[in-house]
Amino acid sequence: MKNSTVQTALLALSMLMFWSAPMWAQATATDGASWRVHDWNRPRPAIVTPAGPDDEVGPAPSDAIVLFDGTDLSNWRAMDGGTSRWIVKDGYMESVRGAGYVRTLQGFGDCQLHVEFMTPTPPEGDSQGRGNSGVFLMGRYEVQVLDSYDNVTYADGQCSAIYGQYPPQVNVCRKPGEWQSYDIIFKAPRFNAAGELLKPAIITVMQNGVLTQDHVEIKGPTNWCSKSPYEPHPGKLPLAFQDHGNPVRYRNVWVRELPATGRPDAYRAELILGQGQLQKYVGVYESRGGRVRITLSDGQLYSNHPGGSSGQPLYAESETRFYSKFVDAEYEFVLDGDAVRAIKVDVTHGGWSEYKKVE
Ligand code: MG
Repeated sequence: MKNSTVQTALLALSMLMFWSAPMWAQATATDGASWRVHDWNRPRPAIVTPAGPDDEVGPAPSDAIVLFDGTDLSNWRAMDGGTSRWIVKDGYMESVRGAGYVRTLQGFGDCQLHVEFMTPTPPEGDSQGRGNSGVFLMGRYEVQVLDSYDNVTYADGQCSAIYGQYPPQVNVCRKPGEWQSYDIIFKAPRFNAAGELLKPAIITVMQNGVLTQDHVEIKGPTNWCSKSPYEPHPGKLPLAFQDHGNPVRYRNVWVRELPATGRPDAYRAELILGQGQLQKYVGVYESRGGRVRITLSDGQLYSNHPGGSSGQPLYAESETRFYSKFVDAEYEFVLDGDAVRAIKVDVTHGGWSEYKKVE
């Protein structure tokens, strides 16, 4: 190549770089702010090799609630509150195509969560079709589970993404067939009495011991191909794992409830029972001293005391034991076989009164 030709080529190249620079700068400036949901042009995280793997299942901390210890699904339900069809085998649970999500019986708000998962080997499918599941905090905010080892997909949908919102900082996936871990710190969103959002949910995620999400503000429920605004919901809701048609496994799942200022009930169990289970408690209960009406609306049980407190939401602590957060009252339904015979009520620790079910 002649000198003049080289100079012309360099000039052309420098012009190209000059003219490309603003475009490049523009792409960088939009990072994290205005990418379209699932934008295939969004840069993918760098690949990092994690330490390990550690094949031992470590013990849970002493104050943790063990949600799954490898033996059974007693702390888990199908989404409607019925028995889940997920498989339990050799110390893990595995999603079953068509069985639907599996969710905890207990509801959680602010929490520290430990989950171990394994995507299938040999891997099948590609992009979102390979080893897809998900950890849904409060049943609606997904930390994506995907086989992102040598599997290209859109950045905000790969493993450790806050689905459709935030790609992980790095891709720290292990190979399919190897156990991986999530350690998640989650702060539930806060709503005022009018149902307006006061504070969005905040999440930090470590995958295989490496930070992938650093205290990010979740923008609303995570969805496929769309942005959804927050809708008010209770302070505690079940944690769920997704059935996306791939046999993804989970083991060693534990959670620590985090105390929240002004919420003395933070450590009190709150079970989310199915509509069918709650329906049988609906009715009128009477004693010589008065009557209590139990009603059900939108999956929430309420107690109504004529002349006293009315419409108090009841929170389940077991399948028969309930409490109110807003008045100091405890409730216990008395069963006769499967039928409900009575309700016992203890207001302000003054002793239990029994009311017979009359309607
Ligand atoms: Mg998923």
